[in-house]
Amino acid sequence: MAHDDSTPGFFTASLEDVAGLFRKGSMWPVTFGLACCAIEMMATASSRFDVARFGMEVFRASPRQADLMIVAGRVSQKMAPVVRQVYDQMAEPKWVLSMGVCASSGGMFNNYAIVQGVDHIVPVDIYLPGCPPRPEMLINAMLELHKQVQEQPLFGNRRAIIEKVERAALDATPVSQMKGLLA
Ligand code: SF4
Repeated sequence: MAHDDSTPGFFTASLEDVAGLFRKGSMWPVTFGLACCAIEMMATASSRFDVARFGMEVFRASPRQADLMIVAGRVSQKMAPVVRQVYDQMAEPKWVLSMGVCASSGGMFNNYAIVQGVDHIVPVDIYLPGCPPRPEMLINAMLELHKQVQEQPLFGNRRAIIEKVERAALDATPVSQMKGLLA
């Protein structure tokens, strides 16, 4: 793990490494599916793909017990506040995986009913292309996210960075219904 001059000494670096290892090895997704991509997401927990190998088989029914949101499917304008509410209820630190083209950009649904990218609502840590992405692709995205989590500073101010990104996304969105979500 690389450190600059402002990084505390050996003990803190080791603590960060261990914390990153624990975090990535016990990531619990929230039970949350929006459309067809959710079928592939459910398949990753099946015996054939077995996401339990990576400590992620426990899809929690309560967002308060989850730290990963997999946005699996298109986000309608009607569901947007619900997505945000579920995200807000999740425990910190938390991560978001945007699964499929619909969640990432609206996909082929370029119309007024669908949010043109879930990053207008929640900060996204990793995007997964495809329509739908296969379970192997989702597992690969999860493992890439694990790398991010492993290297994330334990004492870094991630929340401040996220709020800045969220504010920029809100300012950029033309969707009037989104205003006030982050107030
Ligand atoms: S990306 Fe494809 S499979 Fe996923 S929600 Fe959109 S249409 Fe359905």
